[in-house]
Amino acid sequence: MDLLHTQLSKIQRQLAFVAVDPIDWKLYVQSFSWAVTLFESYLLIRQYPLYSKKEPPASLKEHFGPGVFEKSQSYGKDKAKFALVSGIYKQILDSIMLQYGFYAWSWTTGGKLLAQFGYGPDHEIIQSIAFVFILFTLSAIPTLPLQIYSTFVLEEKHGFNKTTPGLFVADLLKGWGIAFVVGAPFLAAFLSIFQWAGDRFVPWLMALMISFQLLMVIIYPTIIQPLFNKLSPLRQGELRVRIEALAGKLKFPLKHLYEIDGSKRSSHSNAYFFGLPWAKHIVIFDTLIQQSKPEEVEAVLAHELGHWYYLHPTKLMAISQFHIFTILALFPAFLHAPPLLRAFDFPKPIAAQPPTIVAFLLFQMILTPLEAVVSICMNAISRNFEWQADRFAVELQDQLEDEKMADMGDRLGRALITLHVKNLSTVWVDWLYSAYHHSHPTLTERLKALEGFQAARNKKLT
Ligand SMILES: [Zn+2]
Repeated sequence: MDLLHTQLSKIQRQLAFVAVDPIDWKLYVQSFSWAVTLFESYLLIRQYPLYSKKEPPASLKEHFGPGVFEKSQSYGKDKAKFALVSGIYKQILDSIMLQYGFYAWSWTTGGKLLAQFGYGPDHEIIQSIAFVFILFTLSAIPTLPLQIYSTFVLEEKHGFNKTTPGLFVADLLKGWGIAFVVGAPFLAAFLSIFQWAGDRFVPWLMALMISFQLLMVIIYPTIIQPLFNKLSPLRQGELRVRIEALAGKLKFPLKHLYEIDGSKRSSHSNAYFFGLPWAKHIVIFDTLIQQSKPEEVEAVLAHELGHWYYLHPTKLMAISQFHIFTILALFPAFLHAPPLLRAFDFPKPIAAQPPTIVAFLLFQMILTPLEAVVSICMNAISRNFEWQADRFAVELQDQLEDEKMADMGDRLGRALITLHVKNLSTVWVDWLYSAYHHSHPTLTERLKALEGFQAARNKKLT
């Protein structure tokens, strides 16, 4: 532990200038956040002309019924326009809030409110919760029209929306309620660690983050998700038999097999698994079951079990721990830095003794460029995992020595095509746009790879 702390203090000494130099952090954050937004807009502009193509890629031509390709192009076009406008709108809002000292205002307003209830400025944790609450609520309100437009105009126009206004409001209130009920104790624990451990907070905070993530793995499916959707045991029948047999052969610790009423909100479809290492749950969208044949859904699950087989969720969690560790290791230099708070319009007495939560949020904004790079790398890793899981499905016949699985690649390909066509997903994708935004390879890339995996397998055998 001491070795860790000596290394961490070395980093802090490198960054010691943050605590003394009057750097124009506001200008820095403004420039980088605008740079990211403009780059994302540029990507949309690169992608946009592809929505005017009249024909799908040759390999997909036969799968689009009359008019379906045109529909998917017009859906993509509308989504791109919306993304462009909403991206710039959100950036303008953020930029205004940043420029006119919204963060400092939220902190002092929180303080004034609490003073009315008899809580003085020495109650840092309570004031921090009030601060985050004000910040979160006031910045969520101006983006509400975007959400309403996206659900009731955009998705509605293309036939996906199943959300009623009542459900929309209920979801929103539930979401905010949960954010508060889960967020406030988490924030209190987070800040207590700083008060208690001082500058030696890194290992303790890591422990808190890992415990919180594990807690969410348990709480989310059992308490939170049922507030939004109904999970019911998958009914008896061919699909259930197939999936249970597949899980059994792979020794996948299947505890529950659910069908989820995804169709309550939208007709987009999917399947996933979650849970602790010894008790996993599989969830299949009712829309996927309606749209695909049992043997195709089985192939989608074979792909999902590939993720499990290669420990992809665990690997992603390890990477995210490393990411959190890096952020925390850099943070102490920003924790006691009056010039940082002064740059964001905090009054001198507050800046002299920076509240931890304020320092942490400002520090997060400074990390914007780093986070953009991290997200590109995460997408690249995730795409690699997708190939691996697809190959797993193709090679399942050898692993399980089961002739009946010889066409698993074909079935997966058919399921992916159905998913894509029914969801009107974009089939023509600009490579740079895809590298930046997509955690999954494009459909054409995946179909080609599935053929490749099959061919490589056949070659190995002959
Ligand atoms: Zn996958």
